[in-house]
Amino acid sequence: MASEKILVTGAGGFIGGHLVEYLRNKGVGDIVAVDKKPYDEWYQVHDYAENKILDLQYLDACEKSLEGGVTKVYNLAADMGGMGFIENNKALCMLSVLINTHMLEAARHQGKVDRFFYASSACVYNGEKQQDVNNPGLKEEDAYPALAEDGYGWEKLFSERMCRHFEEDFGITCRVARFHNVYGPFGTYDGGREKAPAAMCRKVITAKLSGNHKMEIWGDGEQTRSFMYIDDCTLGVDKIMDSDIDFPINLGSDEMVSINQLVDIVEDIAGIKMERTYNLDAPKGVRGRSSDNTLIKKELGWAPDISLRDGMAKTYAWIYDQMTAKATV
Ligand code: NAD
Repeated sequence: MASEKILVTGAGGFIGGHLVEYLRNKGVGDIVAVDKKPYDEWYQVHDYAENKILDLQYLDACEKSLEGGVTKVYNLAADMGGMGFIENNKALCMLSVLINTHMLEAARHQGKVDRFFYASSACVYNGEKQQDVNNPGLKEEDAYPALAEDGYGWEKLFSERMCRHFEEDFGITCRVARFHNVYGPFGTYDGGREKAPAAMCRKVITAKLSGNHKMEIWGDGEQTRSFMYIDDCTLGVDKIMDSDIDFPINLGSDEMVSINQLVDIVEDIAGIKMERTYNLDAPKGVRGRSSDNTLIKKELGWAPDISLRDGMAKTYAWIYDQMTAKATV
Protein backbone atom coordinates (compact mmCIF):
# COMPACT_ATOMS: atom_id res chain seq x y z
CA MET A 1 0.00 0.00 0.00
CA ALA A 2 2.76 2.45 0.90
CA SER A 3 3.90 2.62 -2.73
CA GLU A 4 0.57 4.06 -3.86
CA LYS A 5 0.44 7.63 -5.12
CA ILE A 6 -2.84 9.44 -4.70
CA LEU A 7 -4.05 12.68 -6.24
CA VAL A 8 -6.60 14.96 -4.57
CA THR A 9 -7.80 17.81 -6.79
CA GLY A 10 -9.47 20.86 -5.30
CA ALA A 11 -7.17 20.26 -2.31
CA GLY A 12 -7.08 23.96 -1.48
CA GLY A 13 -10.85 23.87 -1.06
CA PHE A 14 -13.02 22.84 1.86
CA ILE A 15 -13.60 19.11 1.31
CA GLY A 16 -10.30 18.53 -0.53
CA GLY A 17 -8.27 19.94 2.37
CA HIS A 18 -10.01 17.63 4.83
CA LEU A 19 -9.70 14.64 2.50
CA VAL A 20 -5.92 15.05 2.22
CA GLU A 21 -5.71 14.97 6.03
CA TYR A 22 -8.04 11.97 6.26
CA LEU A 23 -6.01 9.99 3.71
CA ARG A 24 -2.74 10.84 5.41
CA ASN A 25 -4.14 9.69 8.79
CA LYS A 26 -5.25 6.47 7.13
CA GLY A 27 -1.71 5.97 5.84
CA VAL A 28 -2.53 5.43 2.20
CA GLY A 29 0.82 6.35 0.62
CA ASP A 30 2.08 9.48 -1.08
CA ILE A 31 -0.42 12.28 -1.63
CA VAL A 32 -0.35 14.88 -4.38
CA ALA A 33 -2.58 17.86 -3.59
CA VAL A 34 -3.57 20.18 -6.45
CA ASP A 35 -5.57 23.40 -6.69
CA LYS A 36 -5.53 26.41 -8.99
CA LYS A 37 -5.56 28.96 -6.15
CA PRO A 38 -2.37 30.48 -4.70
CA TYR A 39 -1.34 28.72 -1.46
CA ASP A 40 -2.33 31.63 0.76
CA GLU A 41 -5.94 31.05 -0.34
CA TRP A 42 -5.97 27.30 0.45
CA TYR A 43 -8.03 26.53 3.55
CA GLN A 44 -5.42 23.97 4.60
CA VAL A 45 -1.91 23.44 3.22
CA HIS A 46 -0.51 20.10 4.41
CA ASP A 47 3.28 20.07 4.27
CA TYR A 48 3.50 16.28 4.10
CA ALA A 49 1.71 16.32 0.71
CA GLU A 50 3.29 17.18 -2.63
CA ASN A 51 1.39 20.43 -3.20
CA LYS A 52 0.98 21.83 -6.69
CA ILE A 53 -0.79 24.81 -8.24
CA LEU A 54 -2.32 23.82 -11.57
CA ASP A 55 -5.40 24.93 -13.49
CA LEU A 56 -7.04 21.60 -14.25
CA GLN A 57 -9.35 23.02 -16.91
CA TYR A 58 -6.43 22.30 -19.24
CA LEU A 59 -5.38 18.86 -20.39
CA ASP A 60 -1.64 19.47 -20.02
CA ALA A 61 -2.16 20.57 -16.40
CA CYS A 62 -4.14 17.39 -15.71
CA GLU A 63 -1.31 15.37 -17.24
CA LYS A 64 1.22 17.12 -14.99
CA SER A 65 -0.92 16.38 -11.94
CA LEU A 66 -0.63 12.64 -12.66
CA GLU A 67 3.15 12.60 -13.07
CA GLY A 68 5.17 10.29 -10.85
CA GLY A 69 2.84 7.31 -11.17
CA VAL A 70 -0.45 8.42 -9.61
CA THR A 71 -2.78 5.41 -9.33
CA LYS A 72 -5.83 6.90 -7.61
CA VAL A 73 -7.59 10.19 -8.27
CA TYR A 74 -10.09 11.99 -6.07
CA ASN A 75 -11.47 14.69 -8.34
CA LEU A 76 -13.00 17.38 -6.17
CA ALA A 77 -11.97 20.48 -8.13
CA ALA A 78 -14.93 22.52 -9.33
CA ASP A 79 -16.02 26.13 -9.56
CA MET A 80 -18.85 26.14 -7.07
CA GLY A 81 -20.52 27.72 -4.08
CA GLY A 82 -23.85 28.03 -2.27
CA MET A 83 -27.17 29.00 -3.87
CA GLY A 84 -26.18 32.66 -4.24
CA PHE A 85 -23.21 31.60 -6.37
CA ILE A 86 -24.64 28.80 -8.49
CA GLU A 87 -27.83 30.67 -9.41
CA ASN A 88 -25.82 33.65 -10.67
CA ASN A 89 -22.83 31.87 -12.27
CA LYS A 90 -24.29 29.10 -14.42
CA ALA A 91 -21.70 29.31 -17.21
CA LEU A 92 -18.80 29.28 -14.76
CA CYS A 93 -20.29 26.23 -13.03
CA MET A 94 -20.73 24.45 -16.36
CA LEU A 95 -17.11 25.13 -17.31
CA SER A 96 -16.09 22.68 -14.58
CA VAL A 97 -17.00 20.04 -17.15
CA LEU A 98 -13.54 20.73 -18.58
CA ILE A 99 -11.90 19.66 -15.31
CA ASN A 100 -13.51 16.24 -15.09
CA THR A 101 -13.26 15.61 -18.82
CA HIS A 102 -9.57 16.47 -18.97
CA MET A 103 -8.79 14.58 -15.73
CA LEU A 104 -10.37 11.45 -17.18
CA GLU A 105 -8.60 11.94 -20.52
CA ALA A 106 -5.26 12.47 -18.77
CA ALA A 107 -5.85 9.32 -16.70
CA ARG A 108 -6.56 7.36 -19.86
CA HIS A 109 -3.33 8.61 -21.52
CA GLN A 110 -1.26 8.01 -18.40
CA GLY A 111 -2.54 4.45 -18.12
CA LYS A 112 -1.80 3.79 -14.43
CA VAL A 113 -4.89 5.22 -12.72
CA ASP A 114 -6.99 2.29 -11.57
CA ARG A 115 -9.57 4.20 -9.49
CA PHE A 116 -11.15 7.58 -10.07
CA PHE A 117 -13.51 9.32 -7.63
CA TYR A 118 -15.87 12.03 -8.82
CA ALA A 119 -17.65 14.42 -6.43
CA SER A 120 -21.18 14.85 -7.75
CA SER A 121 -24.05 16.63 -6.03
CA ALA A 122 -27.67 16.45 -4.91
CA CYS A 123 -28.15 19.25 -7.47
CA VAL A 124 -28.41 16.53 -10.15
CA TYR A 125 -31.88 15.57 -8.88
CA ASN A 126 -35.03 16.39 -10.79
CA GLY A 127 -36.43 19.71 -9.51
CA GLU A 128 -40.01 18.44 -9.73
CA LYS A 129 -39.26 15.94 -6.95
CA GLN A 130 -38.17 18.76 -4.63
CA GLN A 131 -41.23 21.04 -4.56
CA ASP A 132 -42.47 19.97 -1.13
CA VAL A 133 -40.90 20.89 2.22
CA ASN A 134 -41.78 17.39 3.42
CA ASN A 135 -39.46 15.76 0.91
CA PRO A 136 -39.26 12.08 1.86
CA GLY A 137 -35.61 11.97 0.73
CA LEU A 138 -34.18 11.75 -2.76
CA LYS A 139 -33.51 8.29 -4.05
CA GLU A 140 -30.74 7.69 -6.57
CA GLU A 141 -33.31 6.94 -9.29
CA ASP A 142 -34.83 10.44 -8.84
CA ALA A 143 -32.14 11.95 -11.08
CA TYR A 144 -34.02 10.72 -14.16
CA PRO A 145 -35.92 11.81 -16.16
CA ALA A 146 -33.42 14.63 -15.90
CA LEU A 147 -34.36 18.11 -14.72
CA ALA A 148 -31.25 19.03 -12.78
CA GLU A 149 -30.39 22.37 -11.16
CA ASP A 150 -29.73 24.66 -14.13
CA GLY A 151 -26.00 25.07 -14.80
CA TYR A 152 -24.24 23.42 -11.85
CA GLY A 153 -26.54 20.36 -11.66
CA TRP A 154 -26.42 19.65 -15.39
CA GLU A 155 -22.63 19.78 -15.35
CA LYS A 156 -22.57 17.25 -12.50
CA LEU A 157 -25.04 14.96 -14.25
CA PHE A 158 -23.06 15.05 -17.50
CA SER A 159 -19.78 14.40 -15.67
CA GLU A 160 -21.30 11.44 -13.81
CA ARG A 161 -22.11 9.88 -17.17
CA MET A 162 -18.67 10.70 -18.51
CA CYS A 163 -17.26 8.66 -15.61
CA ARG A 164 -19.59 5.78 -16.39
CA HIS A 165 -18.55 5.66 -20.03
CA PHE A 166 -14.83 5.98 -19.29
CA GLU A 167 -15.26 2.95 -17.04
CA GLU A 168 -17.22 0.99 -19.67
CA ASP A 169 -15.12 1.95 -22.68
CA PHE A 170 -11.62 2.53 -21.26
CA GLY A 171 -11.57 0.42 -18.10
CA ILE A 172 -10.98 3.21 -15.54
CA THR A 173 -12.89 2.16 -12.42
CA CYS A 174 -14.95 5.19 -11.41
CA ARG A 175 -16.76 5.86 -8.15
CA VAL A 176 -19.31 8.67 -7.92
CA ALA A 177 -20.92 10.13 -4.78
CA ARG A 178 -23.72 12.68 -4.78
CA PHE A 179 -22.83 14.95 -1.86
CA HIS A 180 -25.69 16.64 -0.02
CA ASN A 181 -24.70 20.00 1.60
CA VAL A 182 -21.41 19.43 3.37
CA TYR A 183 -20.37 21.77 6.20
CA GLY A 184 -17.64 22.10 8.83
CA PRO A 185 -14.51 24.05 9.76
CA PHE A 186 -11.98 25.24 7.13
CA GLY A 187 -14.62 26.25 4.60
CA THR A 188 -16.14 29.38 3.09
CA TYR A 189 -18.22 31.49 5.46
CA ASP A 190 -18.31 34.82 3.63
CA GLY A 191 -17.67 36.40 0.22
CA GLY A 192 -20.68 34.99 -1.69
CA ARG A 193 -19.77 31.30 -2.12
CA GLU A 194 -20.75 30.22 1.40
CA LYS A 195 -23.56 27.76 2.05
CA ALA A 196 -26.40 28.02 4.56
CA PRO A 197 -24.76 26.50 7.70
CA ALA A 198 -21.69 28.74 7.47
CA ALA A 199 -23.77 31.78 6.46
CA MET A 200 -26.06 31.31 9.48
CA CYS A 201 -23.08 31.00 11.82
CA ARG A 202 -21.53 34.18 10.37
CA LYS A 203 -24.78 36.15 10.70
CA VAL A 204 -25.37 35.05 14.30
CA ILE A 205 -21.74 35.68 15.28
CA THR A 206 -21.89 39.15 13.70
CA ALA A 207 -24.99 39.83 15.78
CA LYS A 208 -23.38 38.54 18.95
CA LEU A 209 -20.26 40.65 18.44
CA SER A 210 -22.10 43.84 17.38
CA GLY A 211 -25.16 43.62 19.62
CA ASN A 212 -27.40 44.17 16.57
CA HIS A 213 -29.54 41.02 16.50
CA LYS A 214 -31.29 41.62 13.17
CA MET A 215 -30.82 38.87 10.61
CA GLU A 216 -31.99 38.36 7.03
CA ILE A 217 -32.97 34.87 5.89
CA TRP A 218 -33.23 33.97 2.21
CA GLY A 219 -36.75 32.77 1.36
CA ASP A 220 -39.44 32.16 3.99
CA GLY A 221 -37.18 29.95 6.10
CA GLU A 222 -39.49 26.95 5.75
CA GLN A 223 -37.50 25.39 2.88
CA THR A 224 -35.90 22.14 4.02
CA ARG A 225 -32.44 20.62 3.61
CA SER A 226 -30.14 18.07 5.19
CA PHE A 227 -26.54 18.87 6.09
CA MET A 228 -23.62 16.45 6.35
CA TYR A 229 -20.70 17.12 8.69
CA ILE A 230 -17.31 16.98 6.98
CA ASP A 231 -16.04 13.94 8.94
CA ASP A 232 -18.97 11.87 7.63
CA CYS A 233 -18.12 13.11 4.13
CA THR A 234 -14.44 12.09 4.16
CA LEU A 235 -15.26 8.70 5.71
CA GLY A 236 -18.01 8.14 3.14
CA VAL A 237 -15.75 9.10 0.22
CA ASP A 238 -13.19 6.57 1.43
CA LYS A 239 -15.78 3.82 1.84
CA ILE A 240 -17.33 4.49 -1.58
CA MET A 241 -13.92 4.66 -3.30
CA ASP A 242 -12.98 1.25 -1.87
CA SER A 243 -16.38 -0.31 -2.60
CA ASP A 244 -17.86 -2.14 -5.57
CA ILE A 245 -20.57 0.52 -5.99
CA ASP A 246 -20.40 1.22 -9.71
CA PHE A 247 -23.26 3.76 -9.89
CA PRO A 248 -23.74 7.27 -8.44
CA ILE A 249 -24.82 7.03 -4.81
CA ASN A 250 -26.09 9.53 -2.23
CA LEU A 251 -23.63 10.70 0.38
CA GLY A 252 -25.61 12.89 2.72
CA SER A 253 -27.39 13.15 6.01
CA ASP A 254 -31.09 12.25 6.26
CA GLU A 255 -31.63 14.59 9.24
CA MET A 256 -33.88 17.05 7.42
CA VAL A 257 -34.46 20.51 8.92
CA SER A 258 -35.97 23.78 7.77
CA ILE A 259 -33.69 26.80 7.49
CA ASN A 260 -35.58 28.25 10.48
CA GLN A 261 -34.70 25.13 12.49
CA LEU A 262 -31.07 25.49 11.41
CA VAL A 263 -31.11 29.06 12.76
CA ASP A 264 -32.69 27.78 16.02
CA ILE A 265 -29.69 25.48 16.44
CA VAL A 266 -27.18 28.28 15.82
CA GLU A 267 -29.04 30.59 18.23
CA ASP A 268 -28.90 27.87 20.87
CA ILE A 269 -25.14 27.39 20.37
CA ALA A 270 -24.54 31.17 20.50
CA GLY A 271 -26.89 31.74 23.42
CA ILE A 272 -28.74 34.62 21.73
CA LYS A 273 -32.07 35.19 19.96
CA MET A 274 -32.24 36.83 16.56
CA GLU A 275 -34.85 39.15 15.02
CA ARG A 276 -35.47 37.42 11.71
CA THR A 277 -36.59 39.08 8.49
CA TYR A 278 -37.26 37.15 5.31
CA ASN A 279 -36.06 38.14 1.82
CA LEU A 280 -38.42 36.37 -0.56
CA ASP A 281 -36.51 37.64 -3.62
CA ALA A 282 -33.15 36.13 -2.65
CA PRO A 283 -31.88 32.86 -4.24
CA LYS A 284 -33.47 30.00 -2.30
CA GLY A 285 -33.13 26.88 -4.45
CA VAL A 286 -35.56 23.97 -4.31
CA ARG A 287 -38.32 23.82 -1.68
CA GLY A 288 -37.40 20.55 0.02
CA ARG A 289 -34.33 18.32 -0.22
CA SER A 290 -32.94 15.49 1.85
CA SER A 291 -31.01 12.29 1.25
CA ASP A 292 -32.67 8.88 1.15
CA ASN A 293 -29.99 6.61 2.61
CA THR A 294 -31.61 3.24 1.94
CA LEU A 295 -29.15 2.33 -0.78
CA ILE A 296 -25.93 3.38 0.97
CA LYS A 297 -27.00 1.47 4.10
CA LYS A 298 -27.65 -1.61 1.99
CA GLU A 299 -24.33 -1.32 0.14
CA LEU A 300 -22.04 -0.26 2.98
CA GLY A 301 -23.95 -1.01 6.17
CA TRP A 302 -23.22 2.63 7.03
CA ALA A 303 -24.59 6.11 6.45
CA PRO A 304 -23.62 9.59 7.71
CA ASP A 305 -24.82 9.94 11.31
CA ILE A 306 -23.09 12.90 12.98
CA SER A 307 -25.88 15.04 14.40
CA LEU A 308 -26.46 18.53 13.05
CA ARG A 309 -26.24 19.97 16.57
CA ASP A 310 -22.78 18.43 17.17
CA GLY A 311 -21.44 19.37 13.74
CA MET A 312 -22.77 22.92 13.96
CA ALA A 313 -21.18 23.44 17.39
CA LYS A 314 -17.74 22.66 15.90
CA THR A 315 -18.40 24.76 12.80
CA TYR A 316 -19.65 27.72 14.84
CA ALA A 317 -16.56 27.56 17.10
CA TRP A 318 -14.20 27.61 14.10
CA ILE A 319 -15.98 30.50 12.35
CA TYR A 320 -16.15 32.43 15.63
CA ASP A 321 -12.36 32.07 16.04
CA GLN A 322 -11.76 33.20 12.46
CA MET A 323 -14.01 36.24 12.78
CA THR A 324 -12.68 37.35 16.15
CA ALA A 325 -9.07 36.84 15.01
CA LYS A 326 -9.75 39.04 11.94
CA ALA A 327 -11.42 41.65 14.11
CA THR A 328 -8.34 41.95 16.35
CA VAL A 329 -5.78 42.22 13.50
P1 NAD B 1 -14.53 24.38 -2.65
O1 NAD B 1 -14.94 25.51 -3.54
O2 NAD B 1 -14.16 24.71 -1.25
O3 NAD B 1 -13.33 23.58 -3.31
C1 NAD B 1 -13.20 23.38 -4.69
C2 NAD B 1 -11.76 23.72 -5.06
O4 NAD B 1 -11.57 23.46 -6.47
C3 NAD B 1 -11.42 25.19 -4.83
O5 NAD B 1 -10.34 25.32 -3.95
C4 NAD B 1 -11.05 25.69 -6.23
O6 NAD B 1 -9.99 26.63 -6.23
C5 NAD B 1 -10.66 24.41 -6.92
N1 NAD B 1 -10.72 24.55 -8.38
C6 NAD B 1 -11.73 25.13 -9.09
N2 NAD B 1 -11.41 25.13 -10.40
C7 NAD B 1 -10.20 24.53 -10.49
C8 NAD B 1 -9.34 24.25 -11.58
N3 NAD B 1 -9.67 24.60 -12.84
N4 NAD B 1 -8.16 23.63 -11.33
C9 NAD B 1 -7.81 23.28 -10.07
N5 NAD B 1 -8.58 23.54 -9.00
C10 NAD B 1 -9.76 24.17 -9.21
O7 NAD B 1 -15.71 23.32 -2.71
P2 NAD B 1 -15.97 22.05 -1.80
O8 NAD B 1 -17.13 22.35 -0.95
O9 NAD B 1 -14.71 21.59 -1.17
O10 NAD B 1 -16.45 21.01 -2.91
C11 NAD B 1 -15.61 19.97 -3.41
C12 NAD B 1 -16.36 19.18 -4.46
O11 NAD B 1 -17.55 18.63 -3.89
C13 NAD B 1 -16.82 20.00 -5.66
O12 NAD B 1 -16.72 19.22 -6.83
C14 NAD B 1 -18.26 20.29 -5.37
O13 NAD B 1 -19.01 20.53 -6.53
C15 NAD B 1 -18.68 19.01 -4.66
N6 NAD B 1 -19.85 19.21 -3.79
C16 NAD B 1 -19.72 19.94 -2.66
C17 NAD B 1 -20.83 20.13 -1.84
C18 NAD B 1 -20.74 20.91 -0.56
O14 NAD B 1 -21.76 21.01 0.14
N7 NAD B 1 -19.61 21.48 -0.20
C19 NAD B 1 -22.08 19.58 -2.21
C20 NAD B 1 -22.16 18.86 -3.39
C21 NAD B 1 -21.03 18.67 -4.17
